[in-house]
Amino acid sequence: MTWTLAARTRKMTSSAIRDLLKLTERPGIISFAGGLPSPDAFPVEAFAVACDKVLTAADARGSLQYATTEGLPALREMVAASLPWRVDPANVLITTGSQQGLDLAAKVLIDPGSNILVETPTYLGALQAFQPMEPTVVGVASDESGVIVDDFEAKAPGARFLYALPNFQNPTGRTMDEARRAAVAEAAVRAQVPVLEDNPYGELWFDAPPPAPLASRHPENTLYMGSFSKVLAPGLRLGFLVAPADIHYRLTMAKQAADLHSPSFNQRVVAEVLKDGFLDRHVPTIRSLYQGKRDAMLAALSREMDGLGVTWNRPAGGMFLWARLPVGLSATALLPRAVEKGVAFVPGEPFYAGQADDRTLRLSFVTATSAQIDAGIAALAAAVRESLDRLSTAERDAAMAPA
Ligand code: PMP
Repeated sequence: MTWTLAARTRKMTSSAIRDLLKLTERPGIISFAGGLPSPDAFPVEAFAVACDKVLTAADARGSLQYATTEGLPALREMVAASLPWRVDPANVLITTGSQQGLDLAAKVLIDPGSNILVETPTYLGALQAFQPMEPTVVGVASDESGVIVDDFEAKAPGARFLYALPNFQNPTGRTMDEARRAAVAEAAVRAQVPVLEDNPYGELWFDAPPPAPLASRHPENTLYMGSFSKVLAPGLRLGFLVAPADIHYRLTMAKQAADLHSPSFNQRVVAEVLKDGFLDRHVPTIRSLYQGKRDAMLAALSREMDGLGVTWNRPAGGMFLWARLPVGLSATALLPRAVEKGVAFVPGEPFYAGQADDRTLRLSFVTATSAQIDAGIAALAAAVRESLDRLSTAERDAAMAPA
């Protein structure tokens, strides 16, 4: 029997990262490759108590019943109240992870051939969600503060949306500063291009909270997405979006077709966990855990990469650090050599919509122990050194030349 597949299946790609994770599950590999939060931060006790409460409540059976597509009213209210601009709970839609928000937005906003704008580089999982709707994905030039406004304005006419990650971006860890946020939000309104603002990492700041979301400036022009994955646990598969009424309605229709609603039991448990200001006590513990790990990785990089021509940034929050190899080296080619030495990372290449910078790579600093960070970065440095040794003298001189 030959099955005839829909043409769009050609646009469905398995995440390079998922494929990679398989490789890094080999025993003994220190992995900076995954995008997983640290399980040490999962509040198991609080969940045990909340599950018990939900299951012994007078309406316990309701938690196991079908529920409305929009989500549990109490949870929608908590989400609305937690955001730093005035949000009506009616504009909140509880989603099955923010990944579902991306999928629903793609279904509601993209026609085949529609131009959509993304940062350079951008979150790979968003590209995977958008691609099956067959858009033309246009990368907007970006620097360490996010999209460059002039390039955005040049590419904006007719675009269906700009997909932006202003806080501790995946993959680069970078943050959009206040001035850039104001300029991007204004330019988007001027060009009549909606913004899809994805903010799963915003709470995970280290020294100071990031500037206010783009959505707080122009809520009518923004589809804002948040997640419980990084502040509670990703296995819950719960996130949310905030959208203007007409778009919210369309997204709700799309969600109804996708999964009717997000798990009612999980929504009740999360509402129970959150109701006494739990996140205000819990999230600071995640921040300090992750900050310590970032510092350990920065220290290891300074120690081990000295003289190798590798550069890296200093993320102010989140889970990822972005590094760049010297001229002449490719992160994709480095990976098998690094795995041989017992360490894995994600090459930057799949995060680019257009021309990729294959010298870049993403390092997650949150799941490894300090000892693993030290050993893993030393192994990575050894792999870089070995790759440099294979270059010709002229190539090595170019690699070592100041940028
Ligand atoms: N957006 C970004 C930028 C992410 O990094 C992730 C998780 N890796 C998601 C969305 C999806 O998160 P979830 O579905 O768990 O909320």
